[in-house]
Amino acid sequence: MTEKITNKERMKIPRQVMPEQNPAERRNNFNEVNLGFTEELAKMEALRCIQCPKPTCIEGCPVGVKIGEFIALVAEGDFLGAADKMKEDNLLPAICGRVCPQEEQCEIKCVVGKKNEPVAIGRLERFVADFERETIGIRTPNLKPKTRKKVAIVGSGPSGLSCAGDLIQMGHDVTVFEALHELGGVLIYGIPEFRLPKAIVKAEIDSLKNLGVEFVTNAVIGFTDTIDELMQKGISSPPAGKAGSTSLTQGGYDAVFIAVGAGLPYFLNVPGENLNGVYSSNEFLTRVNLMKAYRFPEFDTPVFNCKDKNVAVFGGGNTAMDAVRTSKRLGAKNAYIIYRRSDIEMPARAEEIHHAKEEGIEFILLSNPVEFIGDEKGWLNSVKLLKMELGEPDSSGRRRPVPIQGSEYELPIDMAVIAIGNGSNPIIQKTTPGLDFNKWGNILVDEATMKTSKPGVFAGGDIVTGGATVILAMGAGRKAAKAINEYLNRPSV
Ligand code: FAD
Repeated sequence: MTEKITNKERMKIPRQVMPEQNPAERRNNFNEVNLGFTEELAKMEALRCIQCPKPTCIEGCPVGVKIGEFIALVAEGDFLGAADKMKEDNLLPAICGRVCPQEEQCEIKCVVGKKNEPVAIGRLERFVADFERETIGIRTPNLKPKTRKKVAIVGSGPSGLSCAGDLIQMGHDVTVFEALHELGGVLIYGIPEFRLPKAIVKAEIDSLKNLGVEFVTNAVIGFTDTIDELMQKGISSPPAGKAGSTSLTQGGYDAVFIAVGAGLPYFLNVPGENLNGVYSSNEFLTRVNLMKAYRFPEFDTPVFNCKDKNVAVFGGGNTAMDAVRTSKRLGAKNAYIIYRRSDIEMPARAEEIHHAKEEGIEFILLSNPVEFIGDEKGWLNSVKLLKMELGEPDSSGRRRPVPIQGSEYELPIDMAVIAIGNGSNPIIQKTTPGLDFNKWGNILVDEATMKTSKPGVFAGGDIVTGGATVILAMGAGRKAAKAINEYLNRPSV
């Protein structure tokens, strides 16, 4: 039974503070910044939930976690029961608890938040997932009987993983094809260790493997095999170690879910952007996170030596915060965020901006790069910035940055990282006849079912929406899984 206290008493409990590494220490290491609730903190935070009869928080969760129910179990101290309740709707809770923008999703809808600070739903989610993993290991849910239907999922980011998790539980055979040598998409190559430890991503992916999801890495669909080939005959040549595995070569897949993300970096298109020392955020973060360049030469991938250098990261989203905080950890003397609007318009999570400031990141706002300037050997030396002011709101609803003529000035920098967003990679578009795209290269879908224009092919995540969030990508994966299940069970099949 939940502890007997009145709602009035619950409302008086302050939002519990999650312990975190001290900024002066953490800016020199790649260990996780947030340390998670203790059991006592979690129970106290859970008591703040007033168990609304009509909970609005669930409306804010794209995967529909039964938030009130799992929090009630935390309040009772039944942490494993809470983990089970959570996993009815989300098989990646330790990931979501760390990186979801809860402040804009479930927590913004929390009734307690109308008068007080909202219940820390994300932190409780993280707590129950960590508790299960660290005490008895991640348990797998029961599966429905096998249907002998096969689904191919292209891309192992959060959208592909959540779709795989639902489909395998429905009894279908599921194979996930991933272009890279590691699974997890942005969770593994983009978001740094200090925000999302890779061991946690691997543990949640392992739980899908334990359910029977098959993964094939180094498979660039569109090159190694096309979508049509997957549907007609499975894959042409099984990768090493996969010969004879259940579904790989024996006949085509009955349905395909495309979840290839938005991995093609945008650039500023200003002079000097091809100088040595200018990186895309993708390259910089991939080198450091996926290829472990921060442990060079133990790992064989170099990255620009930031030690005692001036590093500027251009952009104001989560990617920009990740890149700049990474450069600080690599020893940058001055690490700047350069953003053309003000901090109010920054798309990064408030927590990431707060942590970046605590770690000594300098914010140069209302400034836009117009040129990168290099030395005679082609190495970056400085950036020319133009000051901006805010005008009327644009189509995004944010106030438009307007240049202040004649306000250019030069800032000495040794390295630049461009983090202004990503578009879609054209491989699937070029190799998949019958699949409709919009002018930005995003796949067009029926939003209720994630069905594309091609029969049996569904799509979701960033390849449909453009760069968005982990939880929206997962929500799309779940929606697609439901529709794929209906498609596979249609009378004619
Ligand atoms: P992805 O995660 O991009 O995964 C797609 C996968 O498909 C990749 O592994 C890719 O290698 C693979 N692939 C691509 N093409 C092919 C092919 N042809 N064949 C086979 N495989 C292919 N969101 C948040 O909610 N919170 C955050 O804190 C946050 N921080 C972020 C930080 C960074 C640095 C970045 C880049 C993004 C961040 N995001 C964050 C956004 C979030 O990570 C994405 O919205 C989400 O990962 C999209 O999921 P997805 O499954 O659609 O694609």
